[in-house]
Amino acid sequence: LDPTVLDLNQTVRETERWMRRTIPSNIEFNTLFQEGLWPVRIDQSSLQSALLNLIVNARDAMDTGGKLTIQTANLTIDATVSRAGQEILPAGDYVLVSLTDTGPGIPPEIIDQIYDPFFTTKSVGQGTGLGLSMVEGFARQSGGMIEVESRLGEGACFTLYFPAVSQER
Ligand code: ADP
Ligand code: MG
Repeated sequence: LDPTVLDLNQTVRETERWMRRTIPSNIEFNTLFQEGLWPVRIDQSSLQSALLNLIVNARDAMDTGGKLTIQTANLTIDATVSRAGQEILPAGDYVLVSLTDTGPGIPPEIIDQIYDPFFTTKSVGQGTGLGLSMVEGFARQSGGMIEVESRLGEGACFTLYFPAVSQER
């Protein structure tokens, strides 16, 4: 891995450009970029494959059409984030990329398994079950995290958090 200082808006814009051709026309693909996005220091090709995996998952979830929105944002987190009693993210400045789809959402009975390697609900040859496990590992190795929100019948939203690089002044 070769972490470099990146403008996430630019990486998302490039990824969007080459993903567009694989998105069927019944899916509306939108982007919303926060201006003045803080820089991050991450491996660009890992970020691209993470975005690709999340875009393909959203596309697969919307086989009858829908809407996919990719959004970037700056966020200051004031207190350590904990999950199940474990500290997973220190307070600080983060850059977020979220992908919101209007697919069926993720059933609550499987949501704890979606990051497990080889967990898939797709038929043989359609999914390896490795995508989210890779994306989750990358987010964590980059000092960030992945978060999912799901509303059954309304859609899913995956958000990647990356630590902002503190600007020299
Ligand atoms: P794969 O795509 O090969 O099945 P992933 O690790 O990428 O493996 O995803 C695991 C599972 O999580 C998928 O099989 C699917 O059940 C669920 N999933 C992932 N993304 C979405 C989404 N956007 N909407 C609904 N379900 C999803
Ligand atoms: Mg996948």
